[in-house]
Amino acid sequence: MAVDMKELTALCKRRGFIFQSSEIYGGINGFWDYGPYGVELKNAIKQFWWREIVHTRPDVVGQDASIIMHPTVWKASGHEDGFTDPMVDCRDCKSRFRADQLEEPGKCGSCGSRNMTEVRKFNLMLSTSVGANAESSTTAYLRPETAQAIFVNFKTIQKTSRKKLPFGIAQIGKAFRNEITPRNFTFRSREFEQMEMQYFIDPEDKVDHFSNWAELRKGFFTKLGFPLEKLRFKDHGQELAHYAKRAMDIEFEFPFGWQEVEGIHDRGDFDLTQHAQFAGENMEYFDEDSKRKFVPHVVETSIGADRVTLAVLCEAYSVENLGTEAEPDLRTVLRFKAHIAPVQVAVLPLMKKLSEPAEALERELNAQGFRTEFDVTGQIGKRYRRYDEIGTPYCVTFDFESLEDQAVTVRFRDSMEQVRIPISGLSEWLRKEIHQSMLPSL
Ligand code: ATP
Repeated sequence: MAVDMKELTALCKRRGFIFQSSEIYGGINGFWDYGPYGVELKNAIKQFWWREIVHTRPDVVGQDASIIMHPTVWKASGHEDGFTDPMVDCRDCKSRFRADQLEEPGKCGSCGSRNMTEVRKFNLMLSTSVGANAESSTTAYLRPETAQAIFVNFKTIQKTSRKKLPFGIAQIGKAFRNEITPRNFTFRSREFEQMEMQYFIDPEDKVDHFSNWAELRKGFFTKLGFPLEKLRFKDHGQELAHYAKRAMDIEFEFPFGWQEVEGIHDRGDFDLTQHAQFAGENMEYFDEDSKRKFVPHVVETSIGADRVTLAVLCEAYSVENLGTEAEPDLRTVLRFKAHIAPVQVAVLPLMKKLSEPAEALERELNAQGFRTEFDVTGQIGKRYRRYDEIGTPYCVTFDFESLEDQAVTVRFRDSMEQVRIPISGLSEWLRKEIHQSMLPSL
């Protein structure tokens, strides 16, 4: 069944995943908040990215730079002059559009009027002022991407980490863009998080690092649960941004069409050369083996944390009819992989009377590092459905027999099958299951 974005958005709000920012004031367009389950999901995805990109790789290190940087950074990077989208207004209904997103150029997407303004360039950077005195304060930008902080810090990090080329620097952080038309839930927001990695290489290196990273990034998506047929790897060919020599988008089939989730770019030596020039700082690297000095080239992988979280939600969302056509019994399930599920294990006593030993078991699993919840309210069937809806892969039911045989029933979210597992081996069993869920789904 095709995913209905309205229903998914409603579920996200109802179950505390994602909702509008400043909701009690009527919201603010392009800004979103993550509630208790949403933040767990997004954190788990970010941590998994960090593990894959930084922790498992001896050649990549992390950083966390400030959002506001020296204003000249954005001159050097080309953002101050060139980070624009084409904007057009309807003179009749006053709606505003990104010119390249209109279905028919020159025709209003709201009222159909052809009375449109000329296309103008609109800079997407959001500005603020820094400093306490009006006279001496400086205009600064909220970064539109995290990448520049990595280029600016390249030398310092290379020296302090003593890494030799090729090596990468990764960062997760907020970015801000004054998008003309934020839309499709969190897909295009004005405040969002990016997970970026810049891999610095010797331009004479014969290894095809671009293709290697593209292949690795494909693996990341399948480990998050995306089937390959829902992904598209689109080479930009000759259509390239000012900084890029080669570019590829990883696209996902959202309910509103194929859209970019991640970009992989060969940025050449563009950024380091620009910063060398604007800051008057030498950005060259000395290669001890070949005794050569050069400005490294860069392969970048850039993915939106919110955008990939939305893709995960779309892929996981399903509504099944367990009844008949005449008497439908609809079950809403979020089929997250166990390693990213906001709640991995729900421990449910069959009856209130069994709360004490059941809660002790939940605390024990929690201490073992699983994301757990204990829930005693309502009939057991209703509780299962509640946990299906937030994507909990394992419900552990503690019943009267558990007191006798020291075993519990584990119900699987996806198949709804149940197995009996001894309490003594439960934690080990869950660990294996969750570990398995990290394998690619093909
Ligand atoms: P688009 O063409 O969709 O505006 P872009 O090509 O400008 O995106 P990049 O500058 O390459 O995007 O940014 C890298 C990643 O950051 C994107 O693949 C996306 O996941 C994320 N991203 C960019 N803009 C937004 C936004 N407005 N809201 C949410 N995520 C975004």
